[in-house]
Amino acid sequence: MNGHKTNEIGMNETYRPLVYIISAPSGSGKSTLVNELLKLVPNLDFSVSFTTRAPRGSEQNGKQYHFVPREEFERMIRDDEFLEHACFDGNYYGTARRFLEETGQKGHDLLLDIDVQGAQQMKRKLPEAISIFVLPPDRKTLEWRLRKRSEDAEDVIHRRLVTASREIENYDKYDYILINDDLEESIESLQAIVLSERLLRSKSSPSAEGKSAERNEIVQLADRHRLANIRDRVEPILASFGAPPASARP
Ligand code: ADP
Ligand code: 5GP
Repeated sequence: MNGHKTNEIGMNETYRPLVYIISAPSGSGKSTLVNELLKLVPNLDFSVSFTTRAPRGSEQNGKQYHFVPREEFERMIRDDEFLEHACFDGNYYGTARRFLEETGQKGHDLLLDIDVQGAQQMKRKLPEAISIFVLPPDRKTLEWRLRKRSEDAEDVIHRRLVTASREIENYDKYDYILINDDLEESIESLQAIVLSERLLRSKSSPSAEGKSAERNEIVQLADRHRLANIRDRVEPILASFGAPPASARP
């Protein structure tokens, strides 16, 4: 016995990190939001995924992604090095198991930017993970943002729009929904979601006493984005993608 407990995903437990999952159709503004969030929230690590896709624009190996050849990715799958992995638009993407362990050792929390399939795999392995789905205000805005970024070829943009229509139908599998319209407001809301979950976790600790007005404000802002409280605002967005209304979905 080494005195360490192991949890359900076989990792030695020190600090049990809060795991935040963030998903969005490509072009919604997720990377922009995540970059800002990481500047604002201390002790929150970004999980740098592995991918077989080619770097885009100014992306650097080891920063946005670890770019690896397909053979290397397949070796990692065989060696069970991923917590989750998925195929998206013909390329592999995956979260390395060791990130979660390293984050726990540092006493930090972890942010995963992963697709809908990966989010579902993670929720099965780690049900307490906190999931956030970012939506664009409507389809036209998404298309405009994809073009504005001008890092993808026209056929890739078209494929991403088709994929987006499918992905957004999964919004109700997430704990929180963030409609990324005004950027400043979205950043504030995303920060509130992350901090509110930390506050809820530390509710019983004496150091969490005091500053209750500020705490309440954070929790209330986060609550406005809980699935049950935002459903009505999502329906028109789904309609702009031609998705059937909730009442017509199974
Ligand atoms: P994603 O990571 O979801 O694919 P990006 O963060 O790359 O998306 O954003 C796509 C484009 O939209 C970028 O040009 C970004 O600057 C822009 N953008 C992001 N959020 C907003 C917003 N709230 N309002 C206007 N433009 C935005
Ligand atoms: P992009 O090519 O635009 O960077 O990412 C495409 C999609 O892959 C996005 O939805 C992004 O969230 C997702 N993605 C990035 N890393 C991972 C990962 O490690 N696992 C999974 N399942 N999806 C990922």
